[in-house]
Amino acid sequence: MNGSDPLKQYKERRDLETSDEPLGEVSAGGDAPIFVVQKHAASSLHYDLRLESGGVLKSWAVPKGPSMDPAVKRLAVPTEDHPMAYAGFEGVIPEGNYGAGTVIVWDRGTFANLKEDKGFAASLDDGHATFRLDGVKLRGGFALLRTGEGGKPRWLFFKMKDGEARPGSDIAGERPGSVLTGRSLEQVEAEEEPSDLPDFG
Ligand code: MN
Repeated sequence: MNGSDPLKQYKERRDLETSDEPLGEVSAGGDAPIFVVQKHAASSLHYDLRLESGGVLKSWAVPKGPSMDPAVKRLAVPTEDHPMAYAGFEGVIPEGNYGAGTVIVWDRGTFANLKEDKGFAASLDDGHATFRLDGVKLRGGFALLRTGEGGKPRWLFFKMKDGEARPGSDIAGERPGSVLTGRSLEQVEAEEEPSDLPDFG
């Protein structure tokens, strides 16, 4: 393996002995790249947008969540690359861990790069990617655009104008639950609260 581990920061931030989050492994993808949006009730509620690129999930925290309205441009703050296996993670990150709180898989599917002259990874490097999402809730063209100068990169995440756009809609409010299990954040929290019992093994 050449160069640095893209999941170094992911591993450094977590104690995977106490959290059930997946191990940090770079892995080959399937035929079509995948995306996931996880709803995360951490210290403040946000949505984590993750798109497969180079064997990892490139990640952004979107405080207000995705919108199907092209007029609504959401702030997206880049966060560390996550392992591919994270796309299936739904559960409770225990207190005291990085990102402690409940996670549900709010949407999941595949995506396709819409830039004809450039690959998806190169588009992200350039700070302007356009792609088609084929999820359960999010469908059609979307864009990620890097904005602002200086030390803290900020991106905008928004729906492109097409036949699947829904002006005036509020998809995060209308469809709040998990696409994996149908559960709400509250149900997952109640059902999967980690035990405080000591390990007697
Ligand atoms: Mn998060």
